[in-house]
Amino acid sequence: MLDINLIRKDFPILKRQVNGKPLVYFDNAATSQTPQQVIDVIVDYYSNYNANIHRGVHALSQEATDKYEAARHTIQKHFNANKAQEIIFTSGTTHAINLVANGFTKLIDNGDELIVSALEHHSNIVPWQMLCEKTGAKLKVIPMTLEGELDMEAYTALLSEKTKLVFVNHISNALGTINPIKTIIDQAHKFGAAVLIDGAQACPHIKPDVQALDVDFYVTSAHKICGPTGVGMLYGKEEWLNKMEPYQGGGEMIDQVTFEKTTYAGLPHKFEAGTPNICGGIAFGAALDYMNAIGFDKIASYEKELLDYGTEKLLEIEGLKIYGTSKNKTSVISFNLEGIHPYDVGTLLDKMGIAVRTGHHCAQPIMTFYNIPGTIRASFAFYNTKAEIDALVSGVKKAKMMLS
Ligand code: PMP
Repeated sequence: MLDINLIRKDFPILKRQVNGKPLVYFDNAATSQTPQQVIDVIVDYYSNYNANIHRGVHALSQEATDKYEAARHTIQKHFNANKAQEIIFTSGTTHAINLVANGFTKLIDNGDELIVSALEHHSNIVPWQMLCEKTGAKLKVIPMTLEGELDMEAYTALLSEKTKLVFVNHISNALGTINPIKTIIDQAHKFGAAVLIDGAQACPHIKPDVQALDVDFYVTSAHKICGPTGVGMLYGKEEWLNKMEPYQGGGEMIDQVTFEKTTYAGLPHKFEAGTPNICGGIAFGAALDYMNAIGFDKIASYEKELLDYGTEKLLEIEGLKIYGTSKNKTSVISFNLEGIHPYDVGTLLDKMGIAVRTGHHCAQPIMTFYNIPGTIRASFAFYNTKAEIDALVSGVKKAKMMLS
């Protein structure tokens, strides 16, 4: 059992008032809040050892380098990667996906096929469309069902010898569906295709084991996992990372530079050009330590309780429809009130101190599928409470009265 009162004390922002009301923060799928333990690590970095890494002979630079590389090891251990150099620091999920898409430019030919799912965030669609434009490859889409699940029969039918890459999210940000990624990976491998899993929404709830999954690439952002913005990671199997060309050129990613020819550094530096988000990387490691100390099993079972409670209470409101009704879902409730624009509900909830997200959640194809402009999305974290869900439910009822 989690001691929620104790956990909430770790998050200074949860004491805030918004519009004169206690903050109820239900926009966790967009960005999670940051515990004091992680804030302390950020303050410590800038107060005590702020310096550029990998190049200084001086003490501060060495200290910063050691802590940054220690964070890489923390991330490696967390995801159970085989080697530390298979963890590439990025600015986030978007950067990581673009890095892989660009890295495949010379590995994809005209006529090859890439498979995406209907449930993706724009950041797992657009970089691949750009790759298709550059190479002449074709993008195929795994369709979704009304429940917000992937049509796995259709997926099997799409796979062929032409398939080179498959990219699917582990959990949908718009609906909360947990996708059957192990099956997706195993089936793709039968055809020799590589698989990238977008773990941006999964990592706050699940501890993925990249070796057990046998996944080729797994990407995520720290800011969804109690870490800071502007940092994330790409896990890639060494053999793929070695085949891929670098994304950006610059300092740190080279072996030898002459005007005639440049040779690149080995992994992970080949993909880490320029000064990285040093403090962010160290804080990312601290955020994973914080989450692991609480325990992902406990987090998942408590969030399931919140999801079930919230679903039941919200469904008691007449005219409220939930999108994404899979039994395999995480603590995200995407809903609309009949005849009312989601933005209007979100604006009124904000006046009551309740933070939700409204709109298409960077997943326009899902909204097109349901023929709606967007949804109201309440996403719960392990520091949320049933009392906060009660506040949401009564807020939605009030908004409905005011807008009907
Ligand atoms: N994929 C999914 C499923 C997401 O939820 C998000 C963030 N909303 C992203 C990708 C993009 O993450 P970031 O903006 O941190 O790069």
